[in-house]
Amino acid sequence: MSYLVKNYNRKKLSFKKGKGSYLYSTKGSKYLDFCSGIAVNSLGHSNPTLIKALNSQAKKIWHVSNAFNIPEGEELAKKLVKKTFADFVMFQNSGTEATEAAIKVARRYFYSIGKPKKNRILCVKNSFHGRTIAAIYASGSKKMTEGFGPKVDGFDHFSFGDHLDLKKSINKNTAAIMVEPIMGEGGIKVIPDWCLKDLRKLCNKKKILLILDEVQCGVGRTGDFFAFEKSKVKPDIVPIAKGIGGGFPIGAVLMTKKVAKAMIPGTHGSTFGGNPLAMKIGSTVIDIVGKKSFLNKVKKNSNYFHKELIKIKENYPKIIKDIRGRGFLIGLQLYKDQTNFIKNLMKNKLLTIRAAENVIRILPPLNVKKNEINEALKIINKVCKKYKQ
Ligand SMILES: *Cc1c(COP(=O)(O)O)cnc(C)c1O
Repeated sequence: MSYLVKNYNRKKLSFKKGKGSYLYSTKGSKYLDFCSGIAVNSLGHSNPTLIKALNSQAKKIWHVSNAFNIPEGEELAKKLVKKTFADFVMFQNSGTEATEAAIKVARRYFYSIGKPKKNRILCVKNSFHGRTIAAIYASGSKKMTEGFGPKVDGFDHFSFGDHLDLKKSINKNTAAIMVEPIMGEGGIKVIPDWCLKDLRKLCNKKKILLILDEVQCGVGRTGDFFAFEKSKVKPDIVPIAKGIGGGFPIGAVLMTKKVAKAMIPGTHGSTFGGNPLAMKIGSTVIDIVGKKSFLNKVKKNSNYFHKELIKIKENYPKIIKDIRGRGFLIGLQLYKDQTNFIKNLMKNKLLTIRAAENVIRILPPLNVKKNEINEALKIINKVCKKYKQ
């Protein structure tokens, strides 16, 4: 008997420990974890440097109120600002809190410059920005919002890739466009660099803000610190979460000085957001993941993975439709439902996770070893060989 609410369809598999890219089940099996808690365990399990940081901070101080200065938070914010487009950072505890806070910042900015009616957020239909009441209506997915009415107003939607629809959906009350540079839950769909560039131009022309949701694709996942960096655009607001804590819940909103000015005392807050324990761990993750040499290795190893996956696709053109994504945010798209394929991978001790459009998401830890990639390739090959769709 489980006393947990049944809002998840959980697999009958539990783990007692993890080490690097591997998870060990309670029944004694060893799994290659290419799910990484959905792009969260960026440095794998039981990373010694993270354990050390956590233990040493745990002995000093865990939590104090944001009513006081928190040096550990100042330190992490400084690191993020030095590394990115941002001038200021606001800490949260999760991805959905970060996207909601991003929306608040955009609205408050226009309010602060005397344009309170400019408050609508334009998003991609069937995107994913989290599960709070506002975030599900931002995502514009029927499945996620069903039964949770009344509808939260203030969000408009356009279809992914439909530039005409995008232009038509902007009106005089649009405050911001919010998109994921690479749609995670939506099926690892990449917005091409030239599209991001055009999106920035469009926002400039219409005097609206650009929010790039990097909760899943950010913090080194693609081989760049942020997925949008390749396009060279400068966003106004970027919510992040998942990978930054390496498994510890942390969210953050990065923003420019222009919009940060609107966030005066009392406009937003969080009891837990930015506490010393979280900040020390986040700081340690950034020290490692933010290094150029680390990111270059992510690029090199993930390029190899992509190339080998494309070879498998060419060998099984009737099963695999597409290999998508960038870096270690990989989507293996099947022609038909992927449920059985994922089950077969799991039987062969490789953990992956589904996404929309028959996609199997492959999200290894960023410090995965080449021989572990080879092990995964072998399993994927084996499953393809025996696969009947
Ligand atoms: C996971 C995710 C969120 C929500 O993050 P939570 O920590 O689950 O609240 C928001 N946006 C994107 C793009 C995500 O992938």
